[in-house]
Amino acid sequence: MERRSKPSLWKHWGMNFFLKLIGYNIREVASVRERQGFAIISAKIALPVSILFAGLNYYAYGYNQLALIELSVSLLFLLPALWLSMHERWILLTETLVMAYGFAITLALAVFGGREGSGVLWVYTFPFLAFLIKGQRIGWLICMAWIAAMTLALKMAPHIPGSHVFSEEYGNQLIAALTFYSVIAAAFNLVRSRFEERLHAKVQENTAKAQEYLDRLQFLALHDQVTGLPNKVKIIGLLSTSINSVNQPDRSIVVVIIRLERMFEISNILGVHGSDDLIKSISASMSEQLGAMGELARTRRDEFVYLYQSGELNITPELIKKHFGKLQLTYLIDGFPIHIEHTIGIAIYPSHSSDAEDLLRKAEQAMLQAKSAKADFSIYDSKLDEVFIQRHLLFGKLKQALSGTGLSLHFQAQIDLRSGKISGAEALARWIDAEGVFISPAEFIPVAENSGLIKPFTSWVIRESFKQLSVWHAAGLEIEISINLSTRNLLDPGIAAELQNLLHEYHIHAASVVLEITESSFTDFPDIAMETIARLSQIGFKLSIDDFGTGYSSLTYLKSLKVNELKIDQSFIRELLSDQRSEAIVISTIQLAHNLGLKVVAEGIENFEAAEYLRQAGCDIAQGYAYSKPLTADQFVNFARSYIARDRK
Ligand code: C2E
Ligand code: MG
Ligand code: MG
Repeated sequence: MERRSKPSLWKHWGMNFFLKLIGYNIREVASVRERQGFAIISAKIALPVSILFAGLNYYAYGYNQLALIELSVSLLFLLPALWLSMHERWILLTETLVMAYGFAITLALAVFGGREGSGVLWVYTFPFLAFLIKGQRIGWLICMAWIAAMTLALKMAPHIPGSHVFSEEYGNQLIAALTFYSVIAAAFNLVRSRFEERLHAKVQENTAKAQEYLDRLQFLALHDQVTGLPNKVKIIGLLSTSINSVNQPDRSIVVVIIRLERMFEISNILGVHGSDDLIKSISASMSEQLGAMGELARTRRDEFVYLYQSGELNITPELIKKHFGKLQLTYLIDGFPIHIEHTIGIAIYPSHSSDAEDLLRKAEQAMLQAKSAKADFSIYDSKLDEVFIQRHLLFGKLKQALSGTGLSLHFQAQIDLRSGKISGAEALARWIDAEGVFISPAEFIPVAENSGLIKPFTSWVIRESFKQLSVWHAAGLEIEISINLSTRNLLDPGIAAELQNLLHEYHIHAASVVLEITESSFTDFPDIAMETIARLSQIGFKLSIDDFGTGYSSLTYLKSLKVNELKIDQSFIRELLSDQRSEAIVISTIQLAHNLGLKVVAEGIENFEAAEYLRQAGCDIAQGYAYSKPLTADQFVNFARSYIARDRK
């Protein structure tokens, strides 16, 4: 351990103290305000005391000369000092006036003595006043000048009329005492000012600490903790500043929102630290690839914003493609390459708005538009506003409908083409809003999907379908029911358990339920969707690929999943007899399905000619207006009864 040598007593208590006492190496910390305070307090005490003694000396004791000096000196110096003390810039003059008062009055007291020479007793206050007002260094200069003046005055006293003449010995003792008192006053002032200095240092240290905390807090409030990039609040501020400072009419500010896809899934796999590391890498590579000409911010867990100024007013899709087309977000995690897909939305100042928050909102809308159009990017289009508002309104109305009335299920018959019998029914949701307007599922299902309403909505569809199926089964109508599931439903970890519970509740066999899923489930969320589908098939549900032929081009999922049927999309069926390509697709799909041991359903059959063609081509099940439109439960029962009766004839 390092041994510290003890500080020498002499060095620290002797030399240091002495040096400081004479004003060497001392830092005057008094602020102008404090100096004003010292001057004011001194003047405020001295003025009434001087006037009082002037009165006493004049009226009571008859020392007229001294009284006049006291009165005139205090009025001449202290009154202006008090007035000037109100202004910071006159501080030096204020102090000089107070000092001049002290100097003059103490000399007068020593020379004229007052009653029995008692005036001398007051002289000792001067050194204290000098050090208090002018500090250690100048205090000494003043005291020395004062002692010299005092020595001279005492020497000259016998020649001044009306003076109180002390003996020479007394005069010498007085000078010695004044010198001693000056030292005492200096020491007293040193202790006082050192205490203040320490206090000052402590205050400064605390202020610095508080400032540091404040800066840190401010940083946290305005920056993302993981990447250190500006957050949403900060970027809105920066954008506002840029908008206000763009003064050339031909410059624009481009607001770019970059939404990372599937971050939720990836974060689940990587855990908190892993996904933080990934986000840090993403932010670093974005900064590198986008360049330093703009400002990058992280506004959400899976969203970055990039702002830059451009000399172009007309920001075209080509320009955007050129700038952002090359943005590549591929990382190696645990040795595996992970590619982060992203979608970009763009809004531009001044074309779209001159308000920072509004621009950000519009860029977000553009990004959502790009997402739903499955495009890489989209530039804000004012027509989107209308769509956005409509969707928002629809969301509110659908939420209400889910807890009230307006929603119902219709059922469309499915016919077994070989036997000609009704084999099943597809449950299709119908919604008539509070104003009596019919809203198509094609319109409200995307709203439900994007807002989280899809979960309660699907729960409602499943319950209603099961309820209906149990009624039909009880009445001897042994058919299957097909229920449409949205991709989002497959991401819900509780969906399989929910379906299973409802099977028990309504005493239904899983084998009489067909769950229709679309191919997009495999592209959007492959792993999670696959897991749910496997679980559903394990329970015993039949699985059908709806709108087959319109989505994913890879058929690998057909190999790995236990799918039961393919539903050829109605666009091919509609043109089956008029377009050779559609015909070829339909025939190939039937063959493919049969080769894989799957059933084929043709939907959207509007005439029996097409139905007959499909029957001959080997298609298993038909569904379409040619047989029946989607019907209410009661209408469906009537349809089924008459269909069976007609079949028997
Ligand atoms: P989808 O599952 O492919 O349903 C078939 C759609 O074709 C239905 O439209 C049906 O009314 C219509 N259709 C049936 N036969 C014919 C025909 O011969 N000609 C023509 N032109 N159309 C026919 P709908 O009911 O409007 O439903 C549209 C889509 O909305 C459905 O397509 C399905 O994807 C979705 N959907 C409907 N109900 C639900 C539901 O309860 N849950 C979910 N997730 N989606 C649903
Ligand atoms: Mg369907
Ligand atoms: Mg379909």
